[in-house]
Amino acid sequence: MKIRENIPISTLTTMRLGGPARYVIDVEKPEEIPEAYNFAKSKSLPTFILGGGANTIGHDEGFDGVIIKSNLKGIIEAGGAQYSFEGPKTRASAPERPEKEYERQAPLQITAFSGEEWDAVVAYACERGLTGIEALSKIPGLAGAAPVQNIGAYGQDISQTLVSIEVYDTLENKFKTLDKNDLQFSYRKSILNTTAKNRYFVISITLELKPGTMSHPFYNSIEKYIIANNCTDFSPAGVRDIVSKIRADKLPDPKEKASAGSFFKNVYLTEKEATEAEKKDYPVYRGHDGLKINSGWLIEQAGFSDQLIHGIRVNKKAALVLINESAKSYADLAAARQEIIDKIQKDFGYKLEQEPVEI
Ligand SMILES: Cc1cc2nc3c(=O)[nH]c(=O)nc-3n(C[C@H](O)[C@H](O)[C@H](O)COP(=O)(O)OP(=O)(O)OC[C@H]3O[C@@H](n4cnc5c(N)ncnc54)[C@H](O)[C@@H]3O)c2cc1C
Repeated sequence: MKIRENIPISTLTTMRLGGPARYVIDVEKPEEIPEAYNFAKSKSLPTFILGGGANTIGHDEGFDGVIIKSNLKGIIEAGGAQYSFEGPKTRASAPERPEKEYERQAPLQITAFSGEEWDAVVAYACERGLTGIEALSKIPGLAGAAPVQNIGAYGQDISQTLVSIEVYDTLENKFKTLDKNDLQFSYRKSILNTTAKNRYFVISITLELKPGTMSHPFYNSIEKYIIANNCTDFSPAGVRDIVSKIRADKLPDPKEKASAGSFFKNVYLTEKEATEAEKKDYPVYRGHDGLKINSGWLIEQAGFSDQLIHGIRVNKKAALVLINESAKSYADLAAARQEIIDKIQKDFGYKLEQEPVEI
């Protein structure tokens, strides 16, 4: 267990804001998780679980507490975290397998440890011809955070393939398995960011994926890309390639530009609200997960695209993404956020809700 002191939160999060965290503990083995919580308890300090910091924003005053980060690595096939207290069985790359075995039709379970990069999990599945998470390619962050806000993109979300997660329950001081149904997934929500926020430290996630390909109808922007570029490869690796190109064209690379991805959630509507919105010619999307208006569209219509507000740039191609171009503090971000929320409320009557969490 590695303990670091006075680490700026700006260096741990992709929005690059936030003062020092008093302690940061990187856990390398599951049994170090209770040790990390005991350390915080012994100092009477609060804790915060952090992954790659791609959906988390720090405050200027920092965090007088203990940030606990998972450095548990490994991707295992055929279900069950099977970790021993000597640590997870890790595998750096795809195991050598005879070609024939990839031709199987039965679903396959894969377990990824929480400190593994989420995109490495997607790459692993796609290399094996497994469908179910290819549209979630290139979402920054770690596997442990993926179920927290039920990550989603281009028509897929993790609730569609997740079977269970292994956790450390900080309330009962026990290691446990939570099944998909326990997690109560909905749009950008699970119990992990609502009713049981901060209670469970995710050790690993198990997904069930099928050999096969995605099929029509594809999500709107994938469909458009396929038509414009005459794409014919809809294998998991083919769709991963398409999604990666769409994302590279419109979303900032967190290594180059500071952002937390989509800063606001989309606006979900009741049937009555959707009908009223359609009468006003607002584009209502009627998808499998409900009726919604893309908040990026609202922000564009309100004239914010490419504007610099208090050092925060509204991304030109995907207005839902706010980029920290020259903000000096969290206060600058808060001022920009308020300006956008107020104008959308005034122009459209919808109240935008922030997606990233705050330490
Ligand atoms: C450029 C960009 C594009 C993005 N695109 C998308 C997108 O298309 N779809 C989408 O859904 N999101 C997107 N995001 C948001 C982000 O990538 C996801 O929310 C991702 O899951 C965050 O992972 P992380 O490890 O960085 O989480 P963090 O920001 O570190 O943490 C997020 C939350 O998860 C909790 N958490 C983290 N690890 C654990 C753990 N092991 N156990 C328990 N709780 C934990 C934290 O306490 C926090 O509440 C994007 C972000 C960026 C910067």
